[in-house]
Amino acid sequence: MVPKLSRRPLRRSADGVVTKGTIGHVHDWTEKTEDLARAVVGYAEQRLRLRPVPLDAPLAEEELSERAGRTITPEGIGGRAALEVFAEVLAPACISIDHPRHFSFIPCAPTPAAMLFDLVVGASSIYGGSWLEGAGAVHAENEALEWLAGLAGLPATSGGVFVQGGTIANVSALVAARHAARHAARHAARHAARAAGGGEPTRWVVATSAEAHSSVSSAAGAMDVDILGVPMDAAGRLAGDALEASLEAEARSGSGRRVFAVVATAGTTNLGIVDDLESVARVAKRAGLWFHVDGAYGAAALAAPSARHLFAGIEHADSLVVDPHKWLFAPFDCAALIYRRPELARAAHAQHAGYLEPLRTGDDWNPSDFALQLTRRARGLPFWFSLACHGTDAYSAAIERTLEVARHAAAAVRRKSYLDLVFEPMLSVVAFERRGWGAEQYHAWSKELLESGTAFVVPTTHNGKVVIRLAIVNPRSTEEDVDAVLTSLG
Ligand SMILES: *Cc1c(COP(=O)(O)O)cnc(C)c1O
Repeated sequence: MVPKLSRRPLRRSADGVVTKGTIGHVHDWTEKTEDLARAVVGYAEQRLRLRPVPLDAPLAEEELSERAGRTITPEGIGGRAALEVFAEVLAPACISIDHPRHFSFIPCAPTPAAMLFDLVVGASSIYGGSWLEGAGAVHAENEALEWLAGLAGLPATSGGVFVQGGTIANVSALVAARHAARHAARHAARHAARAAGGGEPTRWVVATSAEAHSSVSSAAGAMDVDILGVPMDAAGRLAGDALEASLEAEARSGSGRRVFAVVATAGTTNLGIVDDLESVARVAKRAGLWFHVDGAYGAAALAAPSARHLFAGIEHADSLVVDPHKWLFAPFDCAALIYRRPELARAAHAQHAGYLEPLRTGDDWNPSDFALQLTRRARGLPFWFSLACHGTDAYSAAIERTLEVARHAAAAVRRKSYLDLVFEPMLSVVAFERRGWGAEQYHAWSKELLESGTAFVVPTTHNGKVVIRLAIVNPRSTEEDVDAVLTSLG
C-alpha cells in the first residue's frame, strides 16, 4: 500500500514557492543556516584535528537503523539533529581510512590541506567538465596532471583528466585504445585488400597478466573484448619476452582476433609488483599495440628517488593511470588519467548533442572529453591545492617515509620466527604468512584486531594461500604501528 502523504497544509511564499515557515526556502541563508555553518565547519575542523583518529568499525544494519532512527521525514529533523546523528552514530560506523594502522586494501591518507580544500570545492559550485564553465579549475587541475606526466617522462603535449577512480580510468583508456585501433582497421580496409591485414577482426583482444587489477577484466567485460593472459616471469612480472611469445601464439592460432592493447601494471595491488615496463613497451611498439600503464597504486612512487628506477619504460606509455586518492594524499575520489595523444581519447569519448555544441567552438580543453563521463566535480583541486601548499619535495619525502616503514616491516617479519615473508617488497605492500595458520585463524585474528580497535588488516590470497598483507601509504604510520600488528601474531 502506498502510504498517505502528510496532509499538513503547505504555505506558499509570494512567488508561489512552498515553504515551511520556520526555515524559509531551502536555499535561503537564514539564522538557522548560519548556525548550521558553524556546526558543520566546526565538526570538519575537529575531525581534521583529531590525533589519534578513531579507527571505528561497521555495525549491523538493524543496529544502525535503531540507533539512527528515521532521519528523512516530510518535515525534516533539522540540521543540528542530522549532524548529531552523523557524528554520534553514522561516522563511528565508518572505518577511518586515514588511521595509521589501517593497512588493508589500499588506504588513503589525505593531507589536511587537501581535505580542507575539499570543503572549498564543495562550497564553490564549479562544473569541472568544460573550459567554458570551469576554466580556472581546469587550469589548476591540468597543472597537477602536468606534474604527474612530467614524473613519468611523458611529452608536454600529453594530457588527460581526473576521474573517479582507477577503474573508470582503465576502462576509459582501453575504450580510447580500441577506438583508435578500430579507426586504423577501417582505414586500412578502405585503402588495401582485407588480406593485407585491414578490416575488422572477429574479436578485439587486450593482453595483460594475471596480476593485473580486477578492473581490467571488468573493463574487458564491459567492452566485450577478450583477454590474452600473458604468463608472468619468476618475479611475478609481465615482461616483453612472454608478451611476444603470447602474441605470436595468438597470431599462429588463426583465430581472426586482433590484440589492440597491452596493460602493464606499475605496482600490483596485491603485492606491489612493477612489471618490466621497458621490455613490454618495446614489444608493444613493435606489434603496434597501445601501451597502457596501470599505476593506480604504484606510480606515485615515481616521486620517490629510491623507487623511481623501477618504472623505467613508463615514458613510453600511451596512457597512464595514477590515483592521487591512494598514495598521493588526496581525498576520495581522485584518479589521474593521462594520454600521450589526448586527441585520440577525445575522438573516442567526446559526447555530441545539440545542447553541448556551444562547448565545441574552439580547441578548448574540456575534461569531460577524455573519459566515460560528462558532468564532473573538479576533483583534482584538493590534490592541486595540497601540492601548491607544500611543494612536490614534501610529497617525495612523504612517499619515501612510507617506503622506509615498509622496509622496516619486511625486516621485522624476517626477524620473527613465526612469520615468513611471501615476497621481497618492491614498493610499500608487505605480504607474509603466519606459520601454522589456516584461513580460519587469519580471519579470526583480523576480526579481533578491528574489534579491539588495534588495527585494520584484512588477509589476502597469494598462490591459493591466505596471507597477511600490509599496504603502507600513510606517512603517519610508524614502525611502532607495524610492530604492534606483528606482535599480535605471536
Ligand atoms: C586500486 C587499483 C585500481 C582501481 O582503482 P579504483 O580507484 O579503486 O577504481 C586499478 N588498478 C590498480 C593497480 C589499483 O591498485
